[in-house]
Amino acid sequence: MLTFEHDYTRLPEPLWLACEPSGVRAPKLIAFNEALARKLGASVVPDDETLAQWFSGNEIPSGAKPVALGYAGHQFGNFVPQLGDGRALLLGDVVDAEGKRFDVQLKGSGRTPFSRGGDGRSPLGPVLREYLVSEFMAAVGVPTTRALAAVASGERVARQMPEPGAVFTRVASSHVRVGTFQFAARHGEETTRALADYVIARHYPEAREQDDPYLALLECVTRRQAELVARWMSLGFIHGVMNTDNTSISGETIDYGPCAFMEQFDPRKVFSSIDEGGRYAFNNQPAVAQWNLARFAETLLPLMNVQGEEGVELAVEVIRGFEAHFDKTRQALRIAKLGLAEDAGDTADTLMDALETLMHQGRMDMTATFDALTHYAEGFDDIRREALLALTDQPEAFDAWLEQWRAAPLLNDATRFDAMRLANPVVIPRNHRVKEVIDSAMEDDFAPFHTLLSVVSAPFDESVEARRLAAPATDSQAVLRTFCGT
Ligand code: AMP
Ligand code: MG
Repeated sequence: MLTFEHDYTRLPEPLWLACEPSGVRAPKLIAFNEALARKLGASVVPDDETLAQWFSGNEIPSGAKPVALGYAGHQFGNFVPQLGDGRALLLGDVVDAEGKRFDVQLKGSGRTPFSRGGDGRSPLGPVLREYLVSEFMAAVGVPTTRALAAVASGERVARQMPEPGAVFTRVASSHVRVGTFQFAARHGEETTRALADYVIARHYPEAREQDDPYLALLECVTRRQAELVARWMSLGFIHGVMNTDNTSISGETIDYGPCAFMEQFDPRKVFSSIDEGGRYAFNNQPAVAQWNLARFAETLLPLMNVQGEEGVELAVEVIRGFEAHFDKTRQALRIAKLGLAEDAGDTADTLMDALETLMHQGRMDMTATFDALTHYAEGFDDIRREALLALTDQPEAFDAWLEQWRAAPLLNDATRFDAMRLANPVVIPRNHRVKEVIDSAMEDDFAPFHTLLSVVSAPFDESVEARRLAAPATDSQAVLRTFCGT
């Protein structure tokens, strides 16, 4: 079905190690992303049974050569020299019709040489969560790994309680992480150089043309990370576990563990049960991304043209540039979310800063606010204004803000609604809805999962189903804590 190549295995071991999947007892296909498979060059898609065999690791599809990738990482600030794919196997990479290369990886397919104490397995819940959230991210245009398949294993995995197991198939521009560089650095300068040259060729060929390609690589990755985090935050997304091993060099969102979308706007919001100090709180995400980039820079220093203090200063300067890239992307997103004219950047920042304060103080649901604002922007009628004011505890202050916004340089009547619609999804994968579909799936009912998947895969579409699933959680439905669930 897919034509596998093995680009990454040109690099030296132990950046990768060959390893076979363990197989599962009774694989059953939950979901297969046929549109993505076709984009990756599949012309024929086999029956569900064959797909279940392949994407559980029970059978190796023709041309695949499974390998586990090595990486290290700072987890919550503490360096762990050897992490690696403890429960994932790269089947190979495929080149799409546009010539772009993508990794295809099984997750939950059994133990590997990097498993340490782990069982190499994934419970069903996190598999479904990653499927839903990554496909939503792709649909709203946030760089992300994608979901190709989910297969129930027919086995139980031992967690706090025994849970049904599953195998997830992930597609990524590559699986090279900041932690991969940290791992390579421990194996010496030549390994790091091989990895850096590989990454430049695969992701950032423009860096090769620069005086110092490795400093240029740092600059490219810094820009992509800044753009990524700005996009997350425009949707209220909290990654939850921004360790260096979960920071992709290509600038895609990777590793959907305890991630969540905040509902009521709160800059300090944390969901993850393991993030006790709030290291990865909503508003801390830009600072943490920079911290992770500094760890990346440390691995590149020995390769750079300028060594010593001066080299460090050059790298620090590049990482400081994160802020300008972040501000620029955030401003463009703010212009779009508020339906402003293209050159109204300063106004967008002033208005959005004020709106964020109002959303926080008025306990407003972020997604519902921008959705209702989009509808109000269609014709500024009173009914829709009332609907907006009903979202806040402080209607007077918000009404005053609405006046300011209407006085700003808005796009004209013909284009405003459509522009705002594309910047403000009707629906996001709300935490209580994700939990609900996982609970049903545990009882072997996958219909709610498929409904939610189809809705979040078309997040700008208005439909009865989308409206139902778009509603914020009531107090009793609200999810207060998320768990890594590994
Ligand atoms: P994560 O929290 O998913 O980013 O994983 C952190 C590290 O732990 C990675 O090296 C994973 O491969 C490894 N890991 C997580 N869960 C398991 C598991 N069930 N078995 C083996 N390794 C695991
Ligand atoms: Mg990870």
